[in-house]
Amino acid sequence: MRALCWMGVNDLQVRNVPDPSILNPHDVILRVRLTTTCGSDLHLLGGYVPTMREGDVIGHEYMGEVVETGPEVTRLKVGERVVVPSFWGCGKCWYCEHDEWSLCDNTHPKPELAEPLLGYPTGGIPGYSHAFGGYPGSHAEYIRVAHADVNCFPVPEGVSDEQALFLSDAVPTGYMGADFCEIEPGDTVAVWGCGGVGLMAQRSAQLMGAGRVIAIDRLPERLALARDVIGAETIDYSGDDSVLETLRELTGGRGPDACIEAVGMEAHGSGPMYAYDRVKQALHLHSDRGSALREAAMAVRKAGTLSVVGVYGVIDKFPLGVLMNKGVTIRTAQQPGQRYMPRMLEHVQRGELDPSFLITHRMPLEEAPRGYDMFKNKEDGCLRAVFAP
Ligand SMILES: [Zn+2]
Ligand SMILES: [Zn+2]
Repeated sequence: MRALCWMGVNDLQVRNVPDPSILNPHDVILRVRLTTTCGSDLHLLGGYVPTMREGDVIGHEYMGEVVETGPEVTRLKVGERVVVPSFWGCGKCWYCEHDEWSLCDNTHPKPELAEPLLGYPTGGIPGYSHAFGGYPGSHAEYIRVAHADVNCFPVPEGVSDEQALFLSDAVPTGYMGADFCEIEPGDTVAVWGCGGVGLMAQRSAQLMGAGRVIAIDRLPERLALARDVIGAETIDYSGDDSVLETLRELTGGRGPDACIEAVGMEAHGSGPMYAYDRVKQALHLHSDRGSALREAAMAVRKAGTLSVVGVYGVIDKFPLGVLMNKGVTIRTAQQPGQRYMPRMLEHVQRGELDPSFLITHRMPLEEAPRGYDMFKNKEDGCLRAVFAP
């Protein structure tokens, strides 16, 4: 089959790779109907994530159709349309039983690669390096999904492929980010980042009762989506040297009740701290730039919540003193999409949530390298490129 392979830093190629097959009795094979770029893939492209190997198939946000089921699969039928949360769970371990699906103890086949980085392995995720399981990803004609009964969610009638696609990753990540804020009716929530995840965090905050949502970014086309599609207030940080002051003014001097950081380690910023990060990153002293995180920590009100859904490795200048002295609760995780899937599907069915507007570019899989170029350079207003294999 054809698949998008990581062939080295900034080198993606569509190549022939072996078809997946049923390896365990609880597996299914999906024909991938739609699969999309995710901001965290850029960390793979740039070489910031160790343990990538030449030829690895990338992609972890996808939906498809069941074409083959293992003998122990009971809930799925050939022909069914399904969406799959990015991190796989097993449904049986302590973490899955506690609804912490992305932390599953059983879906990481190579824990020895994750333990030195994290202490304990997380669950596995396809297409995202050997440190996260080494499974072939979704930018391919077919994908094998393990523990399919608990990871594949049938897409109900009335929910389109393009809507279901983003329930795999962008929506649950944003939804979790808002859930972490324990929003009280009328709360003010500020969200750094108007990419797919940031926009979904903004919409989720509204669905959970936020009175005001303030979106912060620097790209006019993304700010326009936050303003026009979501209905958020917006701050353009490229034209506003003092986001902190603007947020203070907008909130009567108190600051947002919760801040969601949906930018992660590719964060752009300005000022000396940012320059310092860039220099350190260029020298490979560390791989992350955390200016959005630090700004969100400063901006959040005392005893508020800082919810971090951007992807991080190791950062220095972590503002622990700011959080400690202000009594801020910090919450962060990789999304357990299985926890949120029933609620997300209901929102889509009721017409309260339609993530399909995130798609700015549709193309066949053969054009995926070009799609990633556009996505990475935010060319032509590219928010998400979606591939139909
Ligand atoms: Zn992702
Ligand atoms: Zn598990």
